[in-house]
Amino acid sequence: MKIKNFYVHIPFCLRRCNYCDFASSEYSPHLAEEYLEALGIEFTRRAYGMRPETIYIGGGTPTCLSYEMIEELTDMLDLLDLRDLKEFTVEANPGTLSVDKLMLLREAGITRISLGVQTFNQHGLDVLGRFHGAKDARFAIAQLREVGFENISLDLIFAWPGQTAEEWLEDLQMAIKLDIPHISCYGLSYPEGTPIAKMLANGRVTQVEESLERDMFDRTAEVLAEAGLARYEISNFAKEGHQCQHNLNYWRGGTYIGIGAGAHSYEGNTRFGNCPDVGLYVKKMSSAGTAIDFIDEISREARARECAVIWLRLAEGVDKDLFCNSVGIELEELLAESLPKLLAEGWLEWRGNRLRLTDKAIPYADTILSELV
Ligand code: SF4
Repeated sequence: MKIKNFYVHIPFCLRRCNYCDFASSEYSPHLAEEYLEALGIEFTRRAYGMRPETIYIGGGTPTCLSYEMIEELTDMLDLLDLRDLKEFTVEANPGTLSVDKLMLLREAGITRISLGVQTFNQHGLDVLGRFHGAKDARFAIAQLREVGFENISLDLIFAWPGQTAEEWLEDLQMAIKLDIPHISCYGLSYPEGTPIAKMLANGRVTQVEESLERDMFDRTAEVLAEAGLARYEISNFAKEGHQCQHNLNYWRGGTYIGIGAGAHSYEGNTRFGNCPDVGLYVKKMSSAGTAIDFIDEISREARARECAVIWLRLAEGVDKDLFCNSVGIELEELLAESLPKLLAEGWLEWRGNRLRLTDKAIPYADTILSELV
């Protein structure tokens, strides 16, 4: 069966970061072994013969698994039909890599590594509760290049407590100096229940002023554009030919299949997801052979709205013919209530057949796009 995206979730990290609210657990070799066994069951039941265009192994930190576990994981991929595969990404974190593991990933056909650096500043890493030091990221990038990975993406976080505009520029300049072809930049958020939210509530850290965060956001696009990394999505920048195909498929409303604890899938008009709790996932997979937590039937209109909102995050905007072919509803008809106002106020614009956010709308994209839901 042909599909756009295939996702595998590895929900383990060496330590929880202060700002993290993702479905991930602290790594334990015993639980990881059990998890891989359960994942093997799900692969056999669901993945056999699937023909994806992209594969993304994310987490958590997939590279915190041992060499043998990574080998076990990559062996499972033999069940897939890889004829159409265009891109194969693995997420990694500095401090969890070795040349042996990276060579194994190369041999398994991985073409792209997404490295969670967040900042090159030691104070920033401490505030964010990252488990690696400032030098580890540069070392990890050198290791990646040593084994032949050139398609590298970095995740960076700006506006962490105490960060100055200069420190953010230093992070961007370091990424540019290291000749990284893809960079994702996110402003720090304080999800409820995370250590960083508690640190904020009890005054141990102070949030960066809104005007400074806005300045950092604006400077990001300028500095990266000068270095040849164009914004292709609100938080994503790439050199020509290095845009993430997996995420592009997703932003353009493509189908996806997710395997593992907490992974979601979207096929036809149905979205479904596995339970996020690792122990429960293992138990359900080994006893019942399925760990589905929810199944939502989505109406054609609801699906079309979701697609429009996600798709509009792309700098290229939404091609109205492609949109109609993909979701079966005319874009103007779908957005008839809000579109005239957003066009008149200069938040959206037509460029030929494409509807897109205007430059002035980009910093307020979340608010503006919420009007379309
Ligand atoms: S490495 Fe990523 S997934 Fe793991 S705890 Fe940190 S932010 Fe969460």
